[in-house]
Amino acid sequence: MSDIAIIGGGPAGLTAGLYAARGGADVTLYEELFPGGQIAKTPLVENFPAFPDGLEGYAVGGRIQKQAEKFGLKIEYAGATALVLDGQPKKIVLPDREDTAKAVILCMGATARTLGLAREEELTGAGVSYCATCDGAFFKDQPVAVIGGGDTAISDALYLARFCKSVTIVHRRDELRASPSLQKAAKANPKIQFAYSCVPVSLKGEKKVDGLEIRDLKTDNTRVVPVNGVFIAVGIVPRTELVKDKVALTGGGSIVTDEFMRTNVEGVFAAGDIRNTPLRQVITACADGAVAATAALEYIASL
Ligand code: NAP
Repeated sequence: MSDIAIIGGGPAGLTAGLYAARGGADVTLYEELFPGGQIAKTPLVENFPAFPDGLEGYAVGGRIQKQAEKFGLKIEYAGATALVLDGQPKKIVLPDREDTAKAVILCMGATARTLGLAREEELTGAGVSYCATCDGAFFKDQPVAVIGGGDTAISDALYLARFCKSVTIVHRRDELRASPSLQKAAKANPKIQFAYSCVPVSLKGEKKVDGLEIRDLKTDNTRVVPVNGVFIAVGIVPRTELVKDKVALTGGGSIVTDEFMRTNVEGVFAAGDIRNTPLRQVITACADGAVAATAALEYIASL
């Protein structure tokens, strides 16, 4: 039995592991693939403080892992198939056995909702991005498109308009979902254009994106918007399959936590993109992990 089990090895899980192991607990982190999480897909993390030359996204996970293992974090390369969270001990069901722990920190993250376009996956990192804050700077002085009409899409468009040549917002309806203040700012921005009632049809470009074909749903006409970057902001999907009937979720499917990262189930914490959070970045995931580990240490001390 571990003191603390951490499910998921992105920045939130690994940082929770670092803090909990350094805090003297016996900690096991379960990761089905390799540590790193979504950030492993980002070429360069330029906004993590104290690294003025940036950090290669794939390296972030490995570096936190090394740091956490120095303090005794154990990593099991196995995906949990089920979790038993009520009462004591908590159970982590693995393909070949069952482990137990006094506390569990849920750090399974989220995946960006994809559009399902042909070559969308192949061109991710070569023009297609799901994170304007992470990748926007690579498109300085270039034309880009943002897909979606929610708060994320419009915030992303405003952010990109600061340094990109132009931003075309492609939205499937003729009315935005985003809050009125964001809409007002975007509509007043001369660098932002709108392609309302339009949906992406295909990505153009050999090795890198050089255009986005869109269809006007009202006229059925298609046209190619010449862009080097396509930022897809059509929502995220928190990875809560293992816990959706076990902890409280928001209407959007994120885990509800308090400021100590406690879920509604005693001894169960959540950190990073899987929880209801206003900012999904490496630094906020790490911060969540640190808070969750500290709260979990206090919880196990109280047992
Ligand atoms: P969202 O509110 O769910 O918006 C997703 C957008 O993508 C919608 O405009 C939706 O169109 C569109 N969409 C969904 N599936 C699509 C598809 N297959 N093809 C084309 N378009 C598609 O997601 P979000 O913008 O990421 O926001 C998530 C939450 O975070 C919200 O609660 C939001 O308020 C919050 N947030 C807040 C801020 C802030 O500054 N306060 C910033 C970011 C996010 P429809 O409109 O037609 O459904």
